[in-house]
Formats: sequence, C-alpha cells, structure tokens
Amino acid sequence: METTVARKRLEEMRDDLDRSISILQGERPASVAGAGYPQDSADAGSTLSETDRTEAILHSARGQRDEVLAALARIDENTYGRCVDCGGDIPEGRLDARPDAARCVSCQAKRARRR
Ligand SMILES: [Zn+2]
Repeated sequence: METTVARKRLEEMRDDLDRSISILQGERPASVAGAGYPQDSADAGSTLSETDRTEAILHSARGQRDEVLAALARIDENTYGRCVDCGGDIPEGRLDARPDAARCVSCQAKRARRR
C-alpha cells in the first residue's frame, strides 16, 4: 500500500477514534452529573455497570488510538509496513485490513500466545 494512502486511512481512523473518545468521555456519569443532565432514578442501579462498560470501551479506543499514532510515526520514520519485531515485510493484505498493524502475522501470533 502507498504510504500516502496508508497515512490518509490512519488519519481518518485517528479522527474517528478522537470523536468516539470525546463522546464516550461525555457519557461518563461524573461529567453528566456535573452538567446537570436529568438522572432517571430507575436507571440508578445500572449506572455502575454502565460506567464500567464505557470505561472498557474508552480503554480499548485509547489503545487503538495509540496503535494508529505509532503507525503514523512509522510512516514518518520510513519503517511503515515492516514488522516491528522481526523487520520483515508485513503482507499487503494485512495492512489493507489493518493499516495500523505493527507486526507480521507470525510475530503477532507469537505475541498473542505470550499473553
Ligand atoms: Zn515479524
């Protein structure tokens, strides 16, 4: 994939994530209460699990944003498309599906097994 195309896709991913993160942060009960949103008392019991769910989504969105930013940095450093572990080429099809992929398929599989 052309790095100009990859950069454009990554920047769009980053912008989408930024939007999602700011929306999710706006949904947190702490800031909602501060903003004086109407709080339905029937929902009070589910507030905590709802918060946990939002936090979990926020956490993964931030993690993905880091991956996207790291991929953009690799474009600047001219190492984009190379596996960060073994230095081998990441297959075109993989980058097409995951423009923020940092590792080739076998290194990613090794890493996943270590967890
Ligand atoms: Zn590799």
